[in-house]
Amino acid sequence: MEFPTTLIEFQDQFPDEASCWRYLKAVRWPDGFRCPRCQGRPHTYLEGRRLFQCRTCHAQTSLTARTVLHGTRTPLRKWFLAMFFFARHKQSISALQLKRDLGLGSYGTAWTMLHKLRAALSRRPHQLLRGDVEADETFVGGPRSGGKCGRGAPNKTMVLVLVERREHSAGAAVLRAVPDGSFDSLGPWLRGGIEGANTTIWTDDWNGYLPLSRHGVKHRAQIQGGPARAKKILPWAHLVASNLKAWLLGTFRGVSPKHLQRYLDEFTYRFSRRGLEDRLFFYVTRRAMEGEPLPYHRLTAEPVG
Ligand SMILES: [Zn+2]
Repeated sequence: MEFPTTLIEFQDQFPDEASCWRYLKAVRWPDGFRCPRCQGRPHTYLEGRRLFQCRTCHAQTSLTARTVLHGTRTPLRKWFLAMFFFARHKQSISALQLKRDLGLGSYGTAWTMLHKLRAALSRRPHQLLRGDVEADETFVGGPRSGGKCGRGAPNKTMVLVLVERREHSAGAAVLRAVPDGSFDSLGPWLRGGIEGANTTIWTDDWNGYLPLSRHGVKHRAQIQGGPARAKKILPWAHLVASNLKAWLLGTFRGVSPKHLQRYLDEFTYRFSRRGLEDRLFFYVTRRAMEGEPLPYHRLTAEPVG
């Protein structure tokens, strides 16, 4: 699958709706059409209505039905540009900037597009961390200055950081907004995020982690002591936490706790694919085609997770 790596290549590859449509079709059905209802392959293409009709169950489906782009009225070219900017801008792109760059009708449209893309990047439940995994908590959000820090700071959201410790680098990471540092809050994400048998979780001596071994998880707690030592015992968790804070500050002027998890998912996605930036456009497009429709009311409703 070819993917553009510069804006010039992007323009050459996607000059019109038809080129975007052909690309999406190849991304969604790399081996040819497959009916979303019965998985059948034989079909008729209804040219005028741009619908695929399954010859087995007769269901009609559009290219974007049941994907992140389900029911969109925004032209594909604008979606493609949004996905290109989203993939290329490491600091992400603000809804206001996207609205201006694409000439979108409203801020709401731009905001919705970006959040749908973010939601499509959330980690798949089957992707579990393994090996040596560092776990730590950090705080994000709240007042930009003058806020107190520590376990239980007001107006800030606690984020659980899980990251694989490789020999000379960090592996994959998972970030999860949690209400507090109790085992009730941390435990399900710790236990559910790792491959049990092959994984050891490394933490400091915070008591929210102590019940882990009682629940059958291999756990090594180290005495934290001062901040310098904290960095030493969990180096990769600290690196991820400080990268996250810099990214949130550089990108957004205040992420509401309600939507924080989506930003955490976006950050994690980028972090886990660092070094593969050139391929991100293709990856994001594929996620958009594999993802589920997310209506506006669900985007703005409950906190994610
Ligand atoms: Zn069918």
